[in-house]
Amino acid sequence: MTGQIVIAGAGVAGATAARTLRDAGYSGRIVLVGAESHAPYRRPMVSKDLLAGTRDVGRCLLEPETYWAGNGIELRVATTVTDIDTDHGRVWLSSGEALGYDSLLLATGARARRLEQHPPVRVRTLRGVGDIAALRAAIDSGPLLIVGGGLVGLEVAATARGLGAEVHILHAGAAPLDRVVPQEVSELVQYLHAEHGVRIDSNVRLTGIEQIDTRGVVATATDGRTWTGSSALVAIGAEPDTALARTAGIAVDAGILVDEWYRTSAAGVFAAGDVARRFTAHRGRHERSEHWNSALAQGAAAAKSMLGQPVTELELPWGWTTQYGVSLQFAGWMQSREELVVRGAIESRNFTVLALSGGALVGAITVGRPRDIRAARELIATGAVLPSADWADEAVDLTRIVQAPLPVRR
Ligand SMILES: Cc1cc2nc3c(=O)[nH]c(=O)nc-3n(C[C@H](O)[C@H](O)[C@H](O)COP(=O)(O)OP(=O)(O)OC[C@H]3O[C@@H](n4cnc5c(N)ncnc54)[C@H](O)[C@@H]3O)c2cc1C
Repeated sequence: MTGQIVIAGAGVAGATAARTLRDAGYSGRIVLVGAESHAPYRRPMVSKDLLAGTRDVGRCLLEPETYWAGNGIELRVATTVTDIDTDHGRVWLSSGEALGYDSLLLATGARARRLEQHPPVRVRTLRGVGDIAALRAAIDSGPLLIVGGGLVGLEVAATARGLGAEVHILHAGAAPLDRVVPQEVSELVQYLHAEHGVRIDSNVRLTGIEQIDTRGVVATATDGRTWTGSSALVAIGAEPDTALARTAGIAVDAGILVDEWYRTSAAGVFAAGDVARRFTAHRGRHERSEHWNSALAQGAAAAKSMLGQPVTELELPWGWTTQYGVSLQFAGWMQSREELVVRGAIESRNFTVLALSGGALVGAITVGRPRDIRAARELIATGAVLPSADWADEAVDLTRIVQAPLPVRR
């Protein structure tokens, strides 16, 4: 297997694709191009240990620094792919270099969403290592307003509290994490933050944030309420980084559109990770995920696809968040449920919530029961059907259901 493969984006999807190609015996040239100035690192650490300062980036690398050259992978850091010529299979880099490709993987990830009018100072976003120093200075300089009660906003709140900062979260939705978890779990998250002295105001529609003077910012809501802080973090989600694909004429619609085999609309060009919106036959539509494990799985699968190998696994959204030492894991499609069952007690912080549709498991969330999420992923993928009383019965071990043959819904 020879030739030349270029990978745009050295996050987990791109890096995993490069590693998978070599592990699968691909002996051609691999060039992995990353805009950030570090070798591929664990982005989830950015809002946790890296922001807290309990680890440095050298201890958060995906592979030891020597791995890439040692495996014949040409890693170009602090370099972007600036243009693609899909007709002739060629890309240009910010260094001025042009590279031909047999296959190209777009793994350009996502960017932090900004406010329409985003003040240039004292209002931060967080996506990578390059954003940490400014946010850390903001945390150290006084009360922090966090706009957004999603995963990143809540994690930064927990880290900032650990550093002794005063924190106030302003959330547009009805409850924190309400796009990901059911109400009962949202309430637990709200309680967890209250317990650590973080106030979360929900249903806040901001008109904007302004810098009031050199010392602070004020956020104003449509109903006239205001909040002041020394600085603000805007954590209102991420947008897929599709600029490169769009300019090259590759089909984009809220993400780079790919088929089940991660192929874009351009011959020889693939996409994976946060930037890709993949068609899943099982769900009958294109879907995009923004979770570490999903990006990792997609990078590996796209590499196999580039080598002409079959991609058969059902790829599930699958992620986690850690706040105040409590780790919440989730998998599947909670929003597609007709029914919810709870194993354990949510207030005990040791439970699993299962989302069911037509007797089949479609999603799961757990705190304290990682074995359940592993089993749930398999059960969602196989479409096993059980009466809801069995799903709710803790005596029925999910891991054992995985091993037993069951009726299957497709
Ligand atoms: C602060 C934070 C905390 C998170 N915590 C969790 C967590 O606890 N659990 C979880 O499941 N998920 C978490 N996530 C989400 C997870 O990190 C992402 O889903 C995952 O990193 C996506 O990987 P990716 O490779 O697709 O994209 P990215 O990680 O975004 O990597 C894409 C890379 O491509 C680069 N790039 C963009 N354009 C170009 C170009 N033209 N040329 C070259 N390079 C380019 C970018 O600079 C970037 O380095 C977190 C995300 C953030 C921001």
